[in-house]
Amino acid sequence: MISNKMRDLVNSSSLIRAMFEEGKRLKSIYGPDKVFDFSLGNPNVEPPKEIVTAIHEILDEESPSMVHGYMNNSGYEDVREKIAAYTSEQYNTQVGKEHIVMTCGAAGGLNVLFKTLLNPDDEVIVFAPFFSEYRNYANNHHAKLVIVPSDKTSFQPDLKAFEQHITDKTKAVLINSPNNPTGVIYSHETLEQLSNIIKAKEQEYGHGIFLISDEPYREIVYDNIEVPYLLHYHTNAVIVYSYSKSLSLPGERIGYLVVHPKIEDVDDVMAGLNVANRILGFVNAPSLFQRVIAKTLGVKVDLSVYEKNRNVLYEHLTQLGFGVLKPEGAFYLFMKTPIADDKQFCKDAKAFNLLLVPGSAFGCPGYVRLAYCIAHDTVMNSLPAFEKLWQSYDM
Ligand code: PLP
Repeated sequence: MISNKMRDLVNSSSLIRAMFEEGKRLKSIYGPDKVFDFSLGNPNVEPPKEIVTAIHEILDEESPSMVHGYMNNSGYEDVREKIAAYTSEQYNTQVGKEHIVMTCGAAGGLNVLFKTLLNPDDEVIVFAPFFSEYRNYANNHHAKLVIVPSDKTSFQPDLKAFEQHITDKTKAVLINSPNNPTGVIYSHETLEQLSNIIKAKEQEYGHGIFLISDEPYREIVYDNIEVPYLLHYHTNAVIVYSYSKSLSLPGERIGYLVVHPKIEDVDDVMAGLNVANRILGFVNAPSLFQRVIAKTLGVKVDLSVYEKNRNVLYEHLTQLGFGVLKPEGAFYLFMKTPIADDKQFCKDAKAFNLLLVPGSAFGCPGYVRLAYCIAHDTVMNSLPAFEKLWQSYDM
């Protein structure tokens, strides 16, 4: 009885579900400490203690009918005002509360944005490898995802290919930095060139093309590498932000959009986002967590476990002979598979209780993703398993 479209979606979701079930099955046979599950991007670092304190304070001190009530579909005004002031100071920009929309995480934000911007058959460009849900989000709004490769040595976008893939139907370009699954941060030069190419194509086709930056990993960076701020580079720009990873709050569904104050048709865009939040059924971002965020701006999670995991895995896998790019941010590592078939490689890895995600799930076969947001002990215990896996290929 379900729709044909949904039947296809259920079938294509089966890979992730099967992996989750397989993890559970292996853990029940070998014990949870003997299975090395690198498959999920669910942060293992606890949210900062300031979050719990803020929840208590809000419940004790603020009016319950306000804390739990409806508000403007874009979010509480005082919360958006604080986020706008924080963002303006932090990144030396000038956004106001009228340019912020509170959302149900990045997933909610992207859907609200797509609903507002996209006509059926519009094209959205992404760079492979990319977060696989982007395909579903574009599909939700009857748009087409156009996949452009990245440079295989740096995993920065292939700008020549990008230029060739822009058409009259291109309405948006979606980037993600720090990147899931590569851990790469898009450089100043990349953003500058993306922007220049888009501006030239806007001239050529006579309509706006929006550059969207999905940034749930903005604060998860190593070695003090700077994540350039999109609004400095491009005017037709929107930032999609989320606290799912930066504060380890994925279940709370809280994030926001920052729209460039000078984006084309800014009033229409903001009105559209407000209505989209309502009619997509989100209505508004969770009220309690909007208030929590306003009280905890600038608070950070402890990144030391992720950093330790990154360093150990990078050293070990490189020494074994695997091809790995050192992640600059996020908590993923993208590794070249020693055989061309990445799905077969994941099957082979499972024989050593290693659960990995094939790069083809991110539009980039020949690689696998390791999510290292897991206990450091698990990472240490997994090292011999990687060694055996490498040796099993007799190289
Ligand atoms: N974008 C990227 C690149 C992600 O990796 C994720 C989650 O893993 C999301 C968006 C969705 O995050 P949220 O929980 O904020 O909806």
